[in-house]
Amino acid sequence: MELWGVGTMTTEPIELTDTLRLDDPYTVPTRYWHELPDGRIQCDVCPRACKLREGQRGLCFVRGRVEDQVVLASYGRSSGFCVDPVEKKPLNHFLPGTPVLSFGTAGCNLACRFCQNWDISKSREIDTLSSSASPETLAAAASQLGCSSVAFTYNDPVIFMEYAMDVADACRAVGVKAIAVSAGYINSEPRAEFYAHMDAANIDLKAFTDHFYEKITFAKLPMVLDTLEYLRGTDVWFEVTTLLIPGHNDSPDEIREECDWFGEHLGPDVPLHFSAFHPDFKMLDVPHTPPETLRMARRIALERGLRYVYTGNVHDPAGQTTSCPGCGRGVVERDWYVIRRYELSDSGTCVHCGHQLPGVYEGPAGTWGPRRMPVQLSGGRRAPRYRA
Ligand code: SF4
Repeated sequence: MELWGVGTMTTEPIELTDTLRLDDPYTVPTRYWHELPDGRIQCDVCPRACKLREGQRGLCFVRGRVEDQVVLASYGRSSGFCVDPVEKKPLNHFLPGTPVLSFGTAGCNLACRFCQNWDISKSREIDTLSSSASPETLAAAASQLGCSSVAFTYNDPVIFMEYAMDVADACRAVGVKAIAVSAGYINSEPRAEFYAHMDAANIDLKAFTDHFYEKITFAKLPMVLDTLEYLRGTDVWFEVTTLLIPGHNDSPDEIREECDWFGEHLGPDVPLHFSAFHPDFKMLDVPHTPPETLRMARRIALERGLRYVYTGNVHDPAGQTTSCPGCGRGVVERDWYVIRRYELSDSGTCVHCGHQLPGVYEGPAGTWGPRRMPVQLSGGRRAPRYRA
């Protein structure tokens, strides 16, 4: 049986707490799959290529086969809603200082041993999805809460792309933007459809070796790099995050290689965040990332010519400051998620020399600060617009 289980993260069957049903109000047909000669159906959303028999689910848990098609079984369902600062996604050049209505579902298409949201991403309990909201309810809530954007985060939105795209469309209709926080592990055809609905993204580049991707995340690096290069050719604003894990992906040589590839393929203006790991999930024996490691990585990236490099998950005002390439002044000073000083115009030019900084700027910086505000939403009756 080719199902993926959380117990070993290899090929064990998933222990289901519910069964897939096409008449379930949160289950919708999907588009990216095809039949195989042996009678199985292959999901084509991500390179995992789960091959499913009737009633089976893929590694991501939320997609599965019922009545000879692949369905999404979590349309309109969420593990909870929260208003966060946009800097937490992290995005430092996208509507700085503004609040973002954030949510995720359950499951994930990677199986990272260090997952920092494993209670959601590794959940096999449909009860994790205790909140629900239609795209229109979410868009109205974001608007009423004063959020500039919604973010699909905590787990990877590519696995619930039909819901995420409908939410993004409903949000755009009321002037709210959409942010995808993703590992970039998605096939090219669904990727083009998915990102046509998004305004911004933060992509996790989890390491820069095939070994790390294959042994620690159970995925493959080249497809992630392909997504990054794809995004460079779109209008989607994107930033990249590498979580530095002591002893696993933090050697100066690996960081140099990553930065050289980054500069050559994405250019110097795409922001790169190095963030701190904390022991979690299957990596409880690995220590926290020392702040000096983050500072070392940032130094290397700046030396290799990248212009916007940040440290994350630590107090490090120097490592979280944006400097103007035009005049060299620190124009946006941050401390974790708080903007301490902001010297950009409403359109993102340096107030000292007029240099245009890359990013999305629409007016003055927001004042949301570091707050994290859980939100209860109702109005979960499904109203899917996505049509497979
Ligand atoms: S999206 Fe889910 S079901 Fe589809 S291939 Fe990826 S892990 Fe498998």
